[in-house]
Amino acid sequence: ERKYMVAGNWKMNGNRALVDDFKKNLAVPSAVDVLICPPAPYLSLFDGAEFLVGAQTISEFEKGAHTGDVSASMLADLGVNHVILGHSERRQDHGESNEQVAAKVKLALDSGLTPILCVGEPLSVREAGEVNAYVQQQIDAVLDVCGDRFFDKAVIAYEPIWAIGTGKTASPEQAQDVHAFIRAHLLKSSSAAQQMRILYGGSVNAQNAKELFAQADIDGGLIGGASLKVDDFNIICQAA
Ligand code: 13P
Repeated sequence: ERKYMVAGNWKMNGNRALVDDFKKNLAVPSAVDVLICPPAPYLSLFDGAEFLVGAQTISEFEKGAHTGDVSASMLADLGVNHVILGHSERRQDHGESNEQVAAKVKLALDSGLTPILCVGEPLSVREAGEVNAYVQQQIDAVLDVCGDRFFDKAVIAYEPIWAIGTGKTASPEQAQDVHAFIRAHLLKSSSAAQQMRILYGGSVNAQNAKELFAQADIDGGLIGGASLKVDDFNIICQAA
């Protein structure tokens, strides 16, 4: 059986006070892996937290002359063990290609981090009826570089871009369809895909979480806006 995961992606939000609020008031249900991914400068303030802590990206390089970047091994050194990779905002704001994302996933695995690989289509692709092919390409680029190691550790997050920050969530059926496709596709490479968590992200909130998480291939969520309020986030964790 797959253990649920509920991950909060704070994006470029939050401050010391919010860190303290979460350390004090976030309640972790025993059946759920709960993870908070704050902006990098705040990571070490989470020492002693009862939940997991992750970063929002890493460098595609191992080390060296890359001003402003943070490496996978630095996170591991700090005791951070998860990292979101390939988020659509990174792909958009920083032009991250499938190949760069794949390089990052490989470095994360090399350092013992659990990558949360984000995939998902823009609205134009959905309207053209090409969601599965689009998502498959995003995943295959990573499988090409990482091979079987990907299945042992990675988590996938399906985040349709049109549902992110829009209040317009995918319906449970729309999300389940893509999740089932992703799992079936991964199963062609490894039976270990049966154990992989596939999270849904995109306007998940305290009201809609339960119905989404009840779908057969939805193993939790990657939460943006609603992960900035501990009361809402607690409700979402309990819905898993
Ligand atoms: P929202 O929950 O704000 O739509 O963001 C989703 C997301 O991008 C999480 O990574």
